[in-house]
Amino acid sequence: MTFHSFLIKYGEIGIKGKNRYLFEDALVRQIRYALKNVDGEFLVHKCHGRVYVDCEGAYDYEETVESLKKVFGIVGICPVVRKQVKEIEELKKDVVAYVGEMYPDGDRTFKVEARRANKRYPMNSMEINCELGEAVLDAYPQMKVDVHTPDVRLNVEIREEVYIYSEIIPGPGGMPVGTNGSAMLLLSGGIDSPVAGYMIAKRGVEIEATYFHAPPYTSERAKEKVVDLARLVSKYAGPIRLHVVNFTDIQLAIYEKCPHDELTIIMRRYMMRIAEHFAKKDGCLGLITGESIGQVASQTMQSLAATNAVCTLPVYRPLIGFDKREIVEISEKIDTYETSIQPFEDCCTIFVAKHPVTKPNVERIEKSELNLTEVIDDLMKTAVETAEVIRIEA
Ligand code: ATP
Ligand code: MG
Repeated sequence: MTFHSFLIKYGEIGIKGKNRYLFEDALVRQIRYALKNVDGEFLVHKCHGRVYVDCEGAYDYEETVESLKKVFGIVGICPVVRKQVKEIEELKKDVVAYVGEMYPDGDRTFKVEARRANKRYPMNSMEINCELGEAVLDAYPQMKVDVHTPDVRLNVEIREEVYIYSEIIPGPGGMPVGTNGSAMLLLSGGIDSPVAGYMIAKRGVEIEATYFHAPPYTSERAKEKVVDLARLVSKYAGPIRLHVVNFTDIQLAIYEKCPHDELTIIMRRYMMRIAEHFAKKDGCLGLITGESIGQVASQTMQSLAATNAVCTLPVYRPLIGFDKREIVEISEKIDTYETSIQPFEDCCTIFVAKHPVTKPNVERIEKSELNLTEVIDDLMKTAVETAEVIRIEA
């Protein structure tokens, strides 16, 4: 079967009035972004309160559907057959042919749902329903009508052309990226933070990212892995500005001047401070991390409180109540897992203490940080000024 269009179904909640066109415009923009690398020519447009993707000529069906499945805000994707508007006898033939191709075994209940957007058509929706229903029954005697819970809802919309569709492929849900401001993701090379970015993007939030590396302790390849992960997330989230911060001198200073059991917490606090600096500069409304309670020493309730204490922006932790197994499941689903498990060193793992504090006390940590007073402002300034910004697109 050749489909000529896709009707895009989206959730209606919360998109009344003025919000509606913002929602739809963002959806159209994200669909265009998702399809830009797909073979084929696509016309994405709004029409009578709906969004359509018209496929001009040959295109790759599988790839198109796969790409649409990554666009947040889409609830359902309906592949549409388009035909010229014809009088009812000819229309019956088109619909019967469609049913024959879609359901060759025929053993289904169905209901015709005709809509007449083109009021010049000489029959009303009820009449069209009856005529087409009868034609399908005549052609396929195994099929039965069920107007309440049919297996197949046979939609026939009469517009400038006739749109015939019955399948709904589930979309990812959520809200179109760009409808809920932006936030800064602390993106490491691990499993968790790409998933955290995906989850916040799903709520319509545009994503920026910051990655801290520590050359020569961490390699160029470790950085490439993070760029790869950002690219995978950007398939869903749209383009991502990735800030790559050289964190080596800050880490060395912490290592030299602070108690070793507090290294990780202090390091995490400086990461948050720097990420927040970029976030505020770019108008982001929050920070995002991949933390989950109790996963490691730096993610106990006390550690999270100590890390949080340096931020003034809200910190969103969408994985906070998830087990590792649940996070891995999502990372497999969104295709970041295989990249995340590549074995490259992370700056957190290089300067770790054997016995990190698990119940850090904020006052004590602040006191330890005083040891850095003389050097830290300059080091932070240099780290911010020398950060590399990479624009990443799928
Ligand atoms: P992940 O799997 O995302 O690396 P993790 O379980 O390794 O997480 P931590 O190393 O404690 O956990 O880091 C917690 C969070 O801090 C990460 O999810 C990420 O948001 C942020 N983070 C850690 N290391 C870095 C880094 N090098 N650059 C940017 N953010 C980082
Ligand atoms: Mg990590």
